[in-house]
Amino acid sequence: MEKATKKNTQEKGGNATKSKAGVPEEARSLLLKFFTDEIKDIYWAEKHLTKALPKMKTAATSEELQLAFQTHLEQTGQHVQRLEKIFGLLDQKAQAKKCDAMEGLIKEGESIVDDTDEGTATRDVGLIFAAQKVEHYEIATYGGLSQLATTLGLDEIAGILGETLAEEKETDELLSEIAESNINYEAAEEEEKTK
Ligand code: FE
Ligand code: FE
Repeated sequence: MEKATKKNTQEKGGNATKSKAGVPEEARSLLLKFFTDEIKDIYWAEKHLTKALPKMKTAATSEELQLAFQTHLEQTGQHVQRLEKIFGLLDQKAQAKKCDAMEGLIKEGESIVDDTDEGTATRDVGLIFAAQKVEHYEIATYGGLSQLATTLGLDEIAGILGETLAEEKETDELLSEIAESNINYEAAEEEEKTK
């Protein structure tokens, strides 16, 4: 396979057909299209989150959790802006493509709120569950995108995606800490009271 590729490249005139990152041009343009489509997808997801996070904050009981949602809402606004910057660097206008996965994750979060009582630690546990699933989806997406940007030789874009990736990871860790330090224990007591 490797030999065939080398021969092919030589016939086409060596490195002239290769991009800066060493990926053949034809493959690069296909990959770039895929990459751009995925940027549109996460752009929709982040914009959707700017509408969902205020509702999650309102549904939360613990002040610590409310604050975490507020902080991440502000960060999410920056994630949207960074993606708009990336569209600019790609010479594209910012365009959102519906992300079915994020829509589903948010719906799941809403049903958790419907199924739990207001003002309970159990609802907070549920909200943390839902929020961490969202963060993990974003971590997977930004991890993949930043790697792909590097492969495509888009180093500036890779750096921008890396900044957002770091914030998603921090948020995930913060939510774990909030759950572990207080809320899970409170929720366990709630269950005993109802018995
Ligand atoms: Fe985000
Ligand atoms: Fe996030």
